[in-house]
Order: sequence, then structure tokens, then C-alpha cells
Amino acid sequence: MLQLPYMKKFDDSGLHTQMSDLRQREEENLMQSLALQYGYKYVNLRGYTINPEALMKIPELKSRAGQVVAFELNRRLLSVAIHTHRDQKTKQLLEELEAEGFELLIYLCSTASLEHGYSRYADQKNATAVKKGVLDINPDDILKSTKSISVPEDVGVALMKIRTINSQRRISETIELIFAGALALKASDIHIEPEEEVIRLRYRIDGVLLDIFDLEQQLYGRIISRLKLLSGMILNERMEAQDGRFEFNLAERKIEVRASIIPGASGESMVMRLLDPTVASFNIDKLMLNPRLAKVMDEQLKRPNGLVITTGPTGSGKTTALYAFLRAVHQPEKKIITIENPVEYKIDGIVQTQTSPDYTFASGLRAILRQDPDIIMVGEIRDREVAETAIHAAQTGHLVFTTLHTNSAVGGFPRLIDLGVDSRIIGSAVNIMLGQRLVRVLCDKCKIQYEATPREKSLIEAILQTYPDGYIIPNPLIIYKENGCDVCNHTGFKGRVGVFEAIVIDNKVEEAVIRDPREHIIMEAAVGQKIPTIAQDGMVKVMNGVTSLIELERVVDLSQTKGREIPETNDSDNLTTEDFSSHIV
Ligand SMILES: [Zn+2]
Repeated sequence: MLQLPYMKKFDDSGLHTQMSDLRQREEENLMQSLALQYGYKYVNLRGYTINPEALMKIPELKSRAGQVVAFELNRRLLSVAIHTHRDQKTKQLLEELEAEGFELLIYLCSTASLEHGYSRYADQKNATAVKKGVLDINPDDILKSTKSISVPEDVGVALMKIRTINSQRRISETIELIFAGALALKASDIHIEPEEEVIRLRYRIDGVLLDIFDLEQQLYGRIISRLKLLSGMILNERMEAQDGRFEFNLAERKIEVRASIIPGASGESMVMRLLDPTVASFNIDKLMLNPRLAKVMDEQLKRPNGLVITTGPTGSGKTTALYAFLRAVHQPEKKIITIENPVEYKIDGIVQTQTSPDYTFASGLRAILRQDPDIIMVGEIRDREVAETAIHAAQTGHLVFTTLHTNSAVGGFPRLIDLGVDSRIIGSAVNIMLGQRLVRVLCDKCKIQYEATPREKSLIEAILQTYPDGYIIPNPLIIYKENGCDVCNHTGFKGRVGVFEAIVIDNKVEEAVIRDPREHIIMEAAVGQKIPTIAQDGMVKVMNGVTSLIELERVVDLSQTKGREIPETNDSDNLTTEDFSSHIV
């Protein structure tokens, strides 16, 4: 008997928790079905990383009074969560936001979600308070430091110099130098990886990771804390992956930094991607398309509807090409909406949205279609639902740009069929399928010219002899290779450029896709289009000294193209005895 009150109390609290969990789940379920009923989307903010920039678009008091939490922002597209659309104060606040020029994406959410949203204001106040204090990194100092850095070693030298500073300033200066170095060397990413003894600092330059410097282990905690605060991550969360971002102005340029952190054995490791706004201003001329393909693209971009698909593995420059196409079709009277994962570069005048757990490519694309766009960009087609929605959009009067993760342009057709798209529809919905890779560009200051070896010569001939309308190979055959100098960080290369191939969907190709969508059949059907293959396009860039043959071979499978055109055995037959002896050497 004596135990009873104790037991009762114990049971009760357990039951209480269970009940409240259950009620919570019920409320979430209810909101989800209400959202469906009223044509809104649904969001659970408790599992969502709220974008602080969006949150702060509504002052805390207003947010609480109107029961509206802003949680995502892309340009003027503001995603807001509300509990009910019937509340007068909610309505009023939404109208105010629209009057301020925001386009609203409205989600329904539970009261618990709203409470979670309100609680983020407190974090924001702390973060801003700290940021305003010691956290500020000084863009002027960064700019000054970039001028003293021209090769990777300079970053290490500069970091060594500030070793003796014994104050808070040391951390700020270290972080400033890390950014200055990355910007001066045109790195795309900064990697900070803790190891047992040191912290490894690496940059990715032209697609290749480069060791820059080993920082002292004792700095690790303070550097990571500051970078986490700067990018709006939760400071004391060390066991979970987190994403964040921040930006700073460097002279006339706005540098956006996208940070991600993951837990590891020796501590969290951080990668920061530097988004260079100049990429968004990348125009189609800078893609260096060969004249034939440039003409084809020009025609394709004038069409009012249909799918333009770029293919290639991750890091092949698909997104850069799509941005260039978007810029080419961008006119004030056209409405362009994108759905990306994530938004990598911002383009003025285009509504860019970003996927989230509640805003997937499929659901987002359907929402975008209700916004009456002319042109749509879908970051990637990776399932049947997205494929079908994109095709539907293309068939209902929209020009749709997207990417497929395949190895070649021709590989895009079987890929779409694998995803469940009817082969008879592909021909009418798809306008063009492009394939691409990035090759490093030889440094102009130090590249070395030489006469092609017999092996290289026969490879070049094998690929260029089927060049549409012919290609005259000079004799002697002079090409270039890399050397290395201060200008190119002793790598021999500076920058990258795309090599391309494309298949336009004309009657012949459409017929082949329906009859027998095997790659070589479709390739045959497309021969008459006279668009150089990726190997041919790359080889012309080798002939012009843009890149080296070895670099092209690294990136594009040349043996396959060669094998299809000329049997392997013919190569040695063509060699003269002189060639032969140098071959043996
Ligand atoms: Zn060089």
C-alpha cells in the first residue's frame, strides 16, 4: 500500500509522456490532412533547419502575434508556416509580407512547429550578439591578404607569421587568411579536417584537392566554433551533420559561403564551398561550344517548349551549362522558376527555389507549374515521378531544363526508359540531349609545345578522321603539354573548360528510340546531325592547345570512340618503320 502513491506517480508520468507524444503525432497527422484539403503544403519545423535570414524577415513579436514563422528564403520567394488561414491576424501578416514584395509559399504546421520556430529567435539574438562582438571577420583584411597570396605556399607562410600572436585576434586572422588564400587561388572549396596531431587545411582548385597547411591542433576548437556560429549552426551539437551559410562583401563582390559539417573520429570536419557570383554571369559564349553545336543550341533555345537535358556525372559542369542556357533565354517578359538542390548561384530576375524534405523535386515541380512559368529548370531527374512531371510540363507549353546522371548524351534515352517513361513520348517531349565533361585548361604562361608521338598521332587521326565535314591534321603534328609556373600554382593548368556532345531529337532519332533504343542504334540515327562527338570536340581542343591529350584521356574514354570507328589492329599497320622504332623506345 505504501508503495502505491509512488508507483502511481511513476506510471502516471510515463503515461503522460506517451499521451502527449500521441497527441503530438495526431496533431501532425491532422495538419497534414488539413493541408491537403485546403491545397497548402505541410511542414514539420521541428525536423527542419530554419534559414535565419528567412526567420528574421518577420520580427519576433509580429511572428508570435500573427502565428506565422518564415523558414526559407530564395530571392523574394519566402516560405512561411501558419497554423490556420482563418485567423485575422495571420491573414493580415501574410498580406503585409506580400505588400513588401515577397512571393509566399504557404505551409500549414502544428502549434508545436510554430513554438519551435519562435524559439529560434532566441538563438538568432545570441548569434548576432556574438557575431557583432569578436566574431566579425573583416573583409578588408581578407582583401588585403589576397594580394600577398599567389601560390599555395604563400598561405602557409602567412599562417606561420601569425603563429606568435597570442590573443583572440589570432583566431580571426587565421580564419581571414584561410578565406583570403582560397579566394586568391580561386579555390571552390575549403576543407578543414581534424586529425590526431594536426588540423589539415586543403583547398579544391580546378577540381583537384590540394594540401595547403597543417594548423596546430590547439586552434581547432576555437576555429570550428567561430565558423559554426558564422554559418548559423548549433554550437553544442557535435554528433550530427549540420548545414549552414553566410556571406561577406569583398570589394564589389558578394561571396556566399555554404558550410557543412560532419562528426568524425578526431572531431568535426568542415567543408565550405565558396560560391563565386561570376559563375552565375557565365554566358553561353564562355562555354566554348564548337561552332556546329553553338548553332544547334541557338536554335534549340528559341523553341517555346520541350526538354533540354544535360547529362554527365557529378562535377562535369552540368549546372554551369544549365545556368548559361537560363541566362541565354532570360527576358523580362518570361517567367523563369527553378527548383534546385541546393540553389548554387543566384541569378537576378529568376525565381529560384530549393528542395527540402517537404519540397521535393516532384512536389516542388507541381507547385511551380501552378505559378504559371514559361521556363523551368529542374535540378535533376532521378525518379519516375519527376521524369513524368517534367515531361508533362514540356508537353504543356513550357521550356524545361534539367539534368540526368548518365555517362553520355545517348545514355539519357535508355535512362528515361528505365525510369518508366514511354519511349513513344520521349521523341515528342525531349528537344536535345547534351553530354559533357570538364577538362583542365593548359596554363598559357608555361605550356610546352612538342611533336605528337606516333601513338598520340594515330589516336588523334583515328578520332578526327570521322570529324563531320572533315578535319585537316597538320604535318608535323604539334600539340601541347603542361609544365608549371607561379601563375598556375605549379600544376601546369589554370581553369577548366567543357567538352561536349549532343543529340537533337529529330524524326530519325525519334524513330530509333521507339524501335530500338540501344545506344549505337541511336548514335547511327544521329550521324546526319553532324555534331562532333565528345572525343572529337575534346581532340580539337587538344589540337588548339587548350588542353593536353593526356588530360583529355583522363576525362573522356577515347578508346571506345576509336574502337568503334577503326579496328585496333589498323593502328600499327599505318606506322612507318621510323615511327615504329620511336614507338619501341
Ligand atoms: Zn603555368
